[in-house]
Amino acid sequence: MISLLPINIMENLTKMNVAIESVTWWCHCSDRNEKQFGCPHGMGGPESDFYNGWYSEMGYEFEMFEIPAEKFQELNYNDNFPSNIKTINDEIKDYVNDLSKARGYSKCLTPAFWLSVPDGWKRIKYMKN
Ligand SMILES: [Zn+2]
Repeated sequence: MISLLPINIMENLTKMNVAIESVTWWCHCSDRNEKQFGCPHGMGGPESDFYNGWYSEMGYEFEMFEIPAEKFQELNYNDNFPSNIKTINDEIKDYVNDLSKARGYSKCLTPAFWLSVPDGWKRIKYMKN
Protein backbone atom coordinates (compact mmCIF):
# COMPACT_ATOMS: atom_id res chain seq x y z
CA MET A 1 0.00 0.00 0.00
CA ILE A 2 1.22 3.45 -0.88
CA SER A 3 1.87 5.99 1.88
CA LEU A 4 -0.92 8.32 2.87
CA LEU A 5 0.89 11.49 1.73
CA PRO A 6 0.16 11.10 -2.03
CA ILE A 7 -3.42 10.10 -1.19
CA ASN A 8 -3.85 13.25 0.93
CA ILE A 9 -2.32 15.40 -1.83
CA MET A 10 -4.73 13.94 -4.39
CA GLU A 11 -7.73 14.53 -2.12
CA ASN A 12 -6.65 18.11 -1.39
CA LEU A 13 -6.17 18.83 -5.12
CA THR A 14 -9.74 17.62 -5.70
CA LYS A 15 -10.99 19.96 -2.93
CA MET A 16 -9.09 22.83 -4.65
CA ASN A 17 -10.67 21.91 -8.05
CA VAL A 18 -7.30 21.06 -9.59
CA ALA A 19 -7.31 18.04 -11.92
CA ILE A 20 -4.35 15.68 -12.23
CA GLU A 21 -3.52 15.03 -15.89
CA SER A 22 -0.88 12.36 -15.51
CA VAL A 23 1.40 10.48 -13.12
CA THR A 24 5.08 9.61 -13.47
CA TRP A 25 7.19 7.77 -10.91
CA TRP A 26 10.34 8.74 -9.04
CA CYS A 27 12.64 6.62 -6.85
CA HIS A 28 13.34 8.25 -3.49
CA CYS A 29 17.06 7.54 -2.99
CA SER A 30 17.80 7.78 0.70
CA ASP A 31 20.41 5.81 2.68
CA ARG A 32 17.59 3.78 4.22
CA ASN A 33 15.91 3.03 0.87
CA GLU A 34 19.28 2.10 -0.65
CA LYS A 35 19.74 -0.58 2.02
CA GLN A 36 16.12 -1.73 2.01
CA PHE A 37 15.17 -1.59 -1.68
CA GLY A 38 18.48 -1.43 -3.60
CA CYS A 39 18.13 2.17 -4.76
CA PRO A 40 18.96 4.12 -6.79
CA HIS A 41 16.60 3.18 -9.62
CA GLY A 42 15.86 5.29 -12.65
CA MET A 43 17.71 7.93 -14.61
CA GLY A 44 18.85 10.31 -11.87
CA GLY A 45 17.46 13.56 -10.63
CA PRO A 46 17.56 16.36 -8.06
CA GLU A 47 18.34 16.41 -4.36
CA SER A 48 15.21 16.69 -2.24
CA ASP A 49 14.46 20.03 -0.59
CA PHE A 50 12.17 18.35 1.93
CA TYR A 51 13.48 14.86 2.69
CA ASN A 52 16.79 13.08 3.22
CA GLY A 53 18.21 12.00 -0.13
CA TRP A 54 17.29 12.71 -3.73
CA TYR A 55 14.74 11.70 -6.38
CA SER A 56 15.51 9.74 -9.54
CA GLU A 57 13.00 9.81 -12.40
CA MET A 58 11.93 6.35 -13.54
CA GLY A 59 11.14 7.33 -17.12
CA TYR A 60 8.07 6.61 -19.25
CA GLU A 61 9.28 3.14 -20.22
CA PHE A 62 8.87 2.11 -16.56
CA GLU A 63 5.31 3.25 -16.11
CA MET A 64 3.15 6.31 -16.46
CA PHE A 65 -0.53 7.10 -16.56
CA GLU A 66 -2.23 9.85 -18.47
CA ILE A 67 -5.86 10.93 -18.66
CA PRO A 68 -6.69 11.06 -22.40
CA ALA A 69 -6.71 14.58 -23.89
CA GLU A 70 -10.30 14.08 -25.14
CA LYS A 71 -11.45 13.61 -21.57
CA PHE A 72 -9.94 16.97 -20.63
CA GLN A 73 -11.54 18.63 -23.64
CA GLU A 74 -14.90 17.27 -22.46
CA LEU A 75 -14.44 19.12 -19.18
CA ASN A 76 -14.10 22.47 -20.91
CA TYR A 77 -14.45 24.27 -17.60
CA ASN A 78 -18.26 23.98 -17.66
CA ASP A 79 -20.69 23.90 -14.74
CA ASN A 80 -19.88 20.26 -14.04
CA PHE A 81 -16.16 20.91 -13.84
CA PRO A 82 -15.75 20.28 -10.08
CA SER A 83 -17.52 16.92 -10.24
CA ASN A 84 -15.54 16.03 -13.37
CA ILE A 85 -12.33 16.83 -11.51
CA LYS A 86 -13.35 14.44 -8.75
CA THR A 87 -14.02 11.71 -11.34
CA ILE A 88 -10.62 12.26 -12.99
CA ASN A 89 -8.68 12.49 -9.74
CA ASP A 90 -10.43 9.37 -8.42
CA GLU A 91 -9.28 7.55 -11.57
CA ILE A 92 -5.72 8.71 -10.86
CA LYS A 93 -6.07 7.59 -7.23
CA ASP A 94 -7.22 4.12 -8.33
CA TYR A 95 -4.27 3.89 -10.73
CA VAL A 96 -1.76 4.89 -8.00
CA ASN A 97 -3.29 2.41 -5.52
CA ASP A 98 -3.37 -0.40 -8.09
CA LEU A 99 0.23 0.15 -9.19
CA SER A 100 1.37 0.02 -5.58
CA LYS A 101 0.06 -3.57 -5.46
CA ALA A 102 1.63 -4.59 -8.80
CA ARG A 103 4.57 -6.94 -9.16
CA GLY A 104 7.78 -4.98 -9.62
CA TYR A 105 6.56 -2.07 -7.52
CA SER A 106 9.06 -0.88 -4.93
CA LYS A 107 8.22 1.12 -1.83
CA CYS A 108 10.95 3.60 -2.84
CA LEU A 109 8.69 4.81 -5.67
CA THR A 110 6.81 8.07 -5.31
CA PRO A 111 4.19 9.34 -7.74
CA ALA A 112 4.68 12.75 -9.36
CA PHE A 113 1.47 14.52 -10.33
CA TRP A 114 1.19 16.60 -13.49
CA LEU A 115 -1.52 19.17 -12.85
CA SER A 116 -4.01 20.72 -15.22
CA VAL A 117 -4.15 24.47 -14.72
CA PRO A 118 -5.77 27.20 -16.84
CA ASP A 119 -3.59 28.51 -19.71
CA GLY A 120 -3.39 31.96 -18.10
CA TRP A 121 -1.72 30.73 -14.93
CA LYS A 122 1.86 31.92 -14.35
CA ARG A 123 4.47 30.40 -12.09
CA ILE A 124 5.45 32.68 -9.24
CA LYS A 125 8.66 30.77 -8.83
CA TYR A 126 9.94 27.67 -10.58
CA MET A 127 12.87 26.35 -8.55
CA LYS A 128 14.77 27.58 -5.53
CA ASN A 129 18.07 28.07 -7.35
ZN1 LIG B 1 14.57 2.98 -5.64
